[in-house]
Amino acid sequence: MTNKSYDTIVVGGGVVGASSAFHLKALGAGSVLLIEQGQICTGGTAKSCAICRSHYSIPTNTELTVKGHEIFRNFPDYVGVGDASSGWVESGYIIVADEKMADSVSENLNMQSDVGAETYEISKEQAREFHPRLNVDDAAVIGYEPVSGYADPYLTTTGFVAGARAKGVDVLTETQVTGVLRDGDRVTGVRTASGDIEAGTVLFAIGPWTAALAGWLDLHLPLEVSKHVVLTFRTDDPYDRELPIVKDLTVENKMYFRPASGGVVLVGTGDHGDPLDRVESLDENVSDDFVLLQGGQIANRMPDFANAQLVDSWCGPYDIPPDWNPVLGPVDGIDGLHIAYGFSGHGFKLSPMVGKVLAQTILGQKTDVDISGYRLSRFAEGKLLTGSYGVGSIS
Ligand SMILES: Cc1cc2nc3c(=O)[nH]c(=O)nc-3n(C[C@H](O)[C@H](O)[C@H](O)COP(=O)(O)OP(=O)(O)OC[C@H]3O[C@@H](n4cnc5c(N)ncnc54)[C@H](O)[C@@H]3O)c2cc1C
Repeated sequence: MTNKSYDTIVVGGGVVGASSAFHLKALGAGSVLLIEQGQICTGGTAKSCAICRSHYSIPTNTELTVKGHEIFRNFPDYVGVGDASSGWVESGYIIVADEKMADSVSENLNMQSDVGAETYEISKEQAREFHPRLNVDDAAVIGYEPVSGYADPYLTTTGFVAGARAKGVDVLTETQVTGVLRDGDRVTGVRTASGDIEAGTVLFAIGPWTAALAGWLDLHLPLEVSKHVVLTFRTDDPYDRELPIVKDLTVENKMYFRPASGGVVLVGTGDHGDPLDRVESLDENVSDDFVLLQGGQIANRMPDFANAQLVDSWCGPYDIPPDWNPVLGPVDGIDGLHIAYGFSGHGFKLSPMVGKVLAQTILGQKTDVDISGYRLSRFAEGKLLTGSYGVGSIS
């Protein structure tokens, strides 16, 4: 049962919308409604590998993740629901680079330490000790994060929603927002298939669907949507779920892999992926060439995977702005409208703190991390958010 009027509406029941709705109420918002067109966690978040590391070249990305890891770690207490879980596994994280990237990686490890990340360079011997299946013979530099890990996207998103509901947020699923209500330069609510709902503030956290919002308001919201494939492989020797996550910067598609349930290893890429004209065009087709490429790359990093079996595959959407960093905050010229999109395949780890800083922004509070760099107007101003890695999911 929902009302016809709220102080704030959050559109999108992925991890960003869920975290935002939770934080809004936790930080003192009045009435809050979360609207999702399907069920909670059925968009990009449902396909996420949910790797949480702090390795970036942009300091605010690292700051958001360092603080976010604390939330994943203390999740039930944080959301105030005793049986909630983020599914957190503190496996550690190893990043492997060759000569080409060595200087940037070393420089960024220092920057990350300066903003509070626990990270440092390790030797090849240490890497083999932490991850006995790993081949790092070709590495020029290896970074390590002992307190990073991975979580469960469904548990985390539904946990934020459970925490939000417990604090009094109303949740409306199976309801598509079809337009934005306005009175001149002010947002006054949203249009849905089952009627209009009023609100003085509306936050859109609809990720790869953001083109629809741009269309309704005739706004320029730079965004490309692409298809990403995740594969899982198995060997006779089950893959230990506490082995560190590995990021391989030596290969063009910036492969990463991590343990997953059932003794398999889950393998994804940090590249652009196949462009999609719209998110609805996403299909589940995976080419044999891609499987062969990933199989070869994984066997190079873990020689005992030379005869690994492919177990499963799935595909999910990345929402990518020109600098591969999220767009966060109010939209200039439309009072009461806030946006959060463009997470470019690295939004899960950012989501706990992004929800918090968005809520702080909406409520006029001081934000824990300065998010002015993520403003929409950066594109028009030519102030793209790029660090020394340039564009990409570890930007
Ligand atoms: C294959 C893959 C692997 C990834 N791996 C990682 C990783 O290891 N680590 C990491 O940090 N990040 C990862 N990511 C990225 C991360 O998962 C996303 O950035 C994050 O989940 C985005 O969350 P979101 O809430 O913005 O979007 P979504 O989860 O897509 O949520 C948007 C929601 O809005 C709803 N919606 C859309 N339009 C409407 C409407 N008109 N009305 C109502 N509801 C609407 C949709 O149904 C959807 O549920 C990965 C992504 C993919 C695809």
